[in-house]
Amino acid sequence: MTSNTLRDADLSYVLHPYTNLVAHETKGPLIAVRGEGVRIFDEKGQDYIEGMAGLWCASLGFNEPRLVEAATRQMQTLPFAHMFNHKSHGPGIELAQALIERAPVPMARAFFANSGSEANDTAIKMIWYMNNALGRPEKKKLIARKRAYHGVTVATASLTSLPANHRDFDLPIDRILHTACPHYYREAQPGESEDAFARRLAAELEEMILAEGPETVAAFFAEPVMGAGGVIVPPETYFQHIQAVLQKYDVLLVADEVICGFGRTGRYWGSQTFDMKPDILTCAKALSSAYLPISAVLVNERVYEALKSNSGKIGTFGHGYTYSAHPVAAAVALETVRLYDERDILGNVATSGARMQARLQALTAHPLVGQARGVGLIGALELVEDKATKRAFDPARAVAPKVVERAQDHGVILRAMAGDAIAFSPPLIISEAEVDEMIDRFTRALDEVTADLG
Ligand code: PLP
Repeated sequence: MTSNTLRDADLSYVLHPYTNLVAHETKGPLIAVRGEGVRIFDEKGQDYIEGMAGLWCASLGFNEPRLVEAATRQMQTLPFAHMFNHKSHGPGIELAQALIERAPVPMARAFFANSGSEANDTAIKMIWYMNNALGRPEKKKLIARKRAYHGVTVATASLTSLPANHRDFDLPIDRILHTACPHYYREAQPGESEDAFARRLAAELEEMILAEGPETVAAFFAEPVMGAGGVIVPPETYFQHIQAVLQKYDVLLVADEVICGFGRTGRYWGSQTFDMKPDILTCAKALSSAYLPISAVLVNERVYEALKSNSGKIGTFGHGYTYSAHPVAAAVALETVRLYDERDILGNVATSGARMQARLQALTAHPLVGQARGVGLIGALELVEDKATKRAFDPARAVAPKVVERAQDHGVILRAMAGDAIAFSPPLIISEAEVDEMIDRFTRALDEVTADLG
């Protein structure tokens, strides 16, 4: 199809996810045709640095031949096999072993699904099933944070705490609670230290648990760095104080490593960067560098033992997806994990991440940038109307979305998020020179929009 026919067909046939469907009819799509390294190219051949690695996911960039070969080999050998009812296959087994061996804390078993949402949905079901097995059917409530993002299924969209995911979807469902977001720049009181802020949030969590009744609270879900909520990096001692509360009331910790897993924050897991000791860990995205859909849920011995004994009693662990541990996706994920080791991806995050954070920090001199934040190769700039008072722009002016749109014209794809934050989460293979090019292109867009604002 020619690009005009493709565009027309897009408008006629596609219902786009996360899109203003009215605006789409006039704006039309950016149609990606190929990728190379950290860049994608449109039909006209214009290149874009993918400053978001797609959706925080294409960690090895857009043309890694080793992943293509891994997929091809598996397709030719055994394109499908499943793991229901005592069946198994090599790629699924080896991937489970690779993940358990690399887990940030001792984990007992790995379960596979196809997306971050499915992984978190699975974690929720495991927790409910486990607490029934342990004879505490009241202990079912789940706590997430305001601005959390854990997915879009009915249950995970309820854990998610962003207005667009609830409004008119009749969500959240019951038994799901939201506690404060650890956004120091916005939520700290005047003069409050980062540690005092972290302690206050832990105290608020404890109050919530006590008000609900600890015997009713099952688990706390947390991304190490909150991604879609605005790249919120918690204060250093935040998880230490939070975990003390969780332990006191026997509330499980689920680390949602869907964005942070596999090096994004500078350590292999976000849980290591922030000293989290999860009972359950979910991951996806960079697990396969996004080349095929696959996600995993790692559970510790205690959770596993409860699932096992209940399945023995009932006759089965009645949960699983047709494509759980799809062999082609599993083979690609296994190759991805091997490539991270082979290519010292953490070494690259250390150098290119330091470069990106330094360039973002330097932009705090810009009149529109209220705060730069981030760790490793994830970061954000929060735009404000008045830096001294941190006064935000009227959301109706859509300042961050305008900057992101202009950045796209200059050849860099970024993402505007709630509170006029602009996210940066490039492929983990990005070089320092490419970081510079990404920030230079972005800065041109920021300057132009600043001039437009007058
Ligand atoms: N959890 C986190 C932290 C995410 O960022 C996302 C997606 O962006 C999800 C879960 C949901 O993953 P998926 O879109 O693959 O369902």
